Amino acid sequence: MSLNRLTISEARDKLDAGEISSLDLVQDCLERIKEIDERLRSCLEVCQEKALLEAKEADARIKKGETGALLGIPYIAKDNILTKGVKTTAASKMLENYIAPTDATVIKKLRHSGAVLLAKSNLDEFAHGASTENSAFFTTRNPWDLERVPGGSSGGSAAAVAADLCLFALGTDTGGSVRAPASFCGVSGLKPSYGRCSRFGLIAMTSSTDVPGVLSKTVSDSALVLKAVAGRDEYDATTPDIEVGDYYNNLGEDLQGLTAGLTQEYFDDQTDPEVIKLVKTAVNVLEEKGVKIKETSLPYSKYSVPTYYIITPSEISSNMARFDGIRYGFRKEQGVSSLADVYHKSRAGGLGPEVKRRIMLGTYALSAGYRDAYYLQAQKTRTKIKEEMDSALEEFDFLITPTSPHIAFKIGEQSDDPLQMYLEDIFVSGASLAGLPALSIPCGFSQGLPVGMQVIVKRFDEQTLFDVSYNYQKATQWHLQKPDF
Ligand code: GLN
Repeated sequence: MSLNRLTISEARDKLDAGEISSLDLVQDCLERIKEIDERLRSCLEVCQEKALLEAKEADARIKKGETGALLGIPYIAKDNILTKGVKTTAASKMLENYIAPTDATVIKKLRHSGAVLLAKSNLDEFAHGASTENSAFFTTRNPWDLERVPGGSSGGSAAAVAADLCLFALGTDTGGSVRAPASFCGVSGLKPSYGRCSRFGLIAMTSSTDVPGVLSKTVSDSALVLKAVAGRDEYDATTPDIEVGDYYNNLGEDLQGLTAGLTQEYFDDQTDPEVIKLVKTAVNVLEEKGVKIKETSLPYSKYSVPTYYIITPSEISSNMARFDGIRYGFRKEQGVSSLADVYHKSRAGGLGPEVKRRIMLGTYALSAGYRDAYYLQAQKTRTKIKEEMDSALEEFDFLITPTSPHIAFKIGEQSDDPLQMYLEDIFVSGASLAGLPALSIPCGFSQGLPVGMQVIVKRFDEQTLFDVSYNYQKATQWHLQKPDF
């Protein structure tokens, strides 16, 4: 078997037994990238030389007797996460040649763990989107069907994991961007609690919901990666000093007595009946393991998308102000007559249409006279959504929903309809607004394409998230299916 197909735990055993080296692993991944990424288009930049060097360093550390879950394990990072010495473009023309002076905290932590950065992956420009079609460079394809989107905005990371270009990938999740592509590509996608991992070095989108996340082949691999990247960081005041669990070693075998709520609003006629059937079958598997299932209702959940699409553009309009043609990236120099003209023409030329749409929406929602009606109202609704989800999680240990109402759609099918694109986030934006951890795992196939189930738990209760999903994966084979690619 080619080594790029291994999970992290499988590779770990082989590395520790001295059967393979990190260099072998990295070479197989690079080979795979060379072989298929011209068609898949998941990577924006491959750091071949650096990766080979880092692999040799990891091998030297292993030889010296050092151990560690991620030592020598190759991964890919979404290109809105800063990597020192390697371009970070956010898939925008604005940052086409930007090289960050420092690593994001999550990258620094992975570097210390000895993980090897292989490549930077494609995304919707500045992570604004749900299909990767908004990338300023090219659209990533879904490895299960090249005519379809991989989901987004971490579409490059999800496609890369599904097609075995790496052993795991980092994404970011602001309103579903790890979970949605995980569902479309048939991999595990973890959005940790808000504050569980540092946002330092993530290119800010919606600072009040942004989190780094993990795309992996199994849930237990996500548990390994989360331990390595989580924790308090002095560079991010929203990371509390709450102990990081030993999630992998503490994976529980027993779900007996846990309770799960099925949110009825998420199983209505807007959702593809085939998706409902598969998620309900998955629920039966959990029931057989001793989980008590009950229907529940979250009436405010219908406001998640409208609320998210006021708050997100508002924060974007403010966060994007730094891209002014002076401090970072693209600057229009020809034919400019004043400073205001530099701002105007640099932003007009460097930013894509969806980014501009959000800046305008957000600026409007925050403007004098409209702020109370839009932004403030959305903040109030957000509190209601959060309170409702928190209280449901007092009653239940976890909630189950489909991750997406349907399977991956065709490239171009929805790109002219922003509203339809925003509705993609219908099941995933709630947990983001409430700061809750959530995970998408494969739970079957419809028309040959993967379907994902979402599990949501209390803030900082990632262990339950892993326990539930790990036991589900032990009882099923969906996560082991590979695209024929
Ligand atoms: N689809 C959502 C949006 O476009 C999610 C983006 C994200 O999580 N980065 O805003």
